[in-house]
Amino acid sequence: MGPFFQPLHLEMLGNAVALSEEIISDSFGLTTDYWLKNPFEVKTLRDEAQEDLPKGVYAHLKKYGNNWWEKFCGRDTRCLYKIIVLDPRVLETTRGEPPVMMPFFLYIMTHELIHMVRFARFECAATIKDKTEEEKRVHLLTEKVLEKVKIPNLDLVIDFFNGKKIKLCMN
Ligand SMILES: [Zn+2]
Repeated sequence: MGPFFQPLHLEMLGNAVALSEEIISDSFGLTTDYWLKNPFEVKTLRDEAQEDLPKGVYAHLKKYGNNWWEKFCGRDTRCLYKIIVLDPRVLETTRGEPPVMMPFFLYIMTHELIHMVRFARFECAATIKDKTEEEKRVHLLTEKVLEKVKIPNLDLVIDFFNGKKIKLCMN
């Protein structure tokens, strides 16, 4: 099932979570209590090994135990979201190299939090019929939001997620 994140990786993930909250609050003009009203927890595969997760993703968003594209109804005021970050896949892609992992975590957290904000604002359908369309929209928004953020190697990570066949690792 492993390998799993080491303490250093988890610390970077924590920093990326805090930074992505800030970036999204600014970009979407969220109220200061937004994240209190829309709490989410971040887990890694070490904690969530039994979860049934989709293939080929780096992180997965759940709400009340459902996949993000199913069983949503109505406007949400309070709900609990869970983001599961998949240690083995992230470690494989970044080779666990800190200069790449930090922007990589920032990218995936920003992407998942944009999904969350769109659900909470009801900007996407209650039940997502076309999950690919929503994915595309969130992908574009993620890039737009991160464009102004200046952290090392973030441009490399954005290129990577745009499907450019680039080498993400430093060596
Ligand atoms: Zn997504």
